[in-house]
Amino acid sequence: MSELLASLRDLTVTYAAEQGTHLALDGLDLDIVKGERLAVIGESGSGKSTLALALGGLLPPETHIEGSIGWPGFAAQPQPGLDIGFVFQDAGASLNPVIAVGRQITEIARLHLGLSRRKARERARALLARVRIPDPDTALAAFPHQLSGGQRQRVAIAAAIAAKPSLLIADEATSALDTIVQAEIVALLDELVRAEGMTLIFITHDIALASGFADRIVVLRDARLVETGPTAALLGAPKQAYTAKLLASHIGLDTPPLVAGEPA
Ligand code: ADP
Repeated sequence: MSELLASLRDLTVTYAAEQGTHLALDGLDLDIVKGERLAVIGESGSGKSTLALALGGLLPPETHIEGSIGWPGFAAQPQPGLDIGFVFQDAGASLNPVIAVGRQITEIARLHLGLSRRKARERARALLARVRIPDPDTALAAFPHQLSGGQRQRVAIAAAIAAKPSLLIADEATSALDTIVQAEIVALLDELVRAEGMTLIFITHDIALASGFADRIVVLRDARLVETGPTAALLGAPKQAYTAKLLASHIGLDTPPLVAGEPA
């Protein structure tokens, strides 16, 4: 039997906007299974990031939330940064530009795992090696701007998993990268979640990218869940016309292979 990590029931999120209110999620019912790699796809504005922020308890304070998010997979309410790791599109949203990379990861390990300075530094070094940063010793002293976009995203992943979260949420984590680096980062995420037994929520507007490794896909449209199912079933026989349309518009003969390659 698959164990549930999270259970969302009738989740409705309304932002307080200047021109009135904005319904960003409308009655979402979704179960997230421990260890699954779940892709959330949808066009821009469909509510994907809102779902990520709601799961992390990171929505702005004036946001109105109805319905429930239960966490049967945790003994207590999971903490963002500790139990839930985040990787955003722009590493700048996760990394501080004026603090050396090593210190940023070290601080997380000290804060959340209670490691000594020396042990935390060792963990930071090991994490940089784990995400395949070439020459981790040099990278520890580097500032984010001294790294390439792909390397910055690797560092952001190292920081996101530094506290050993059970759930990793990657929100358009590869969208700003070129295709080859994108495939490498996806392969890295896939490898890490398998090796560490994490659950992955991979948010993307790119159905081809998601279908390369996700176990299951959730399709969002205009704040609503359109359809969810195992990747092969959903791609092979979409139940909803909108999913079929999304597939047709994204997967053409010129689409690169769906399975991400091994990192170079
Ligand atoms: P996606 O990640 O799929 O692009 P979002 O969850 O970011 O979608 O946004 C869903 C909708 O909510 C969009 O229409 C967006 O403009 C609106 N929205 C997002 N954040 C806010 C906010 N802080 N205040 C008001 N509206 C917001």
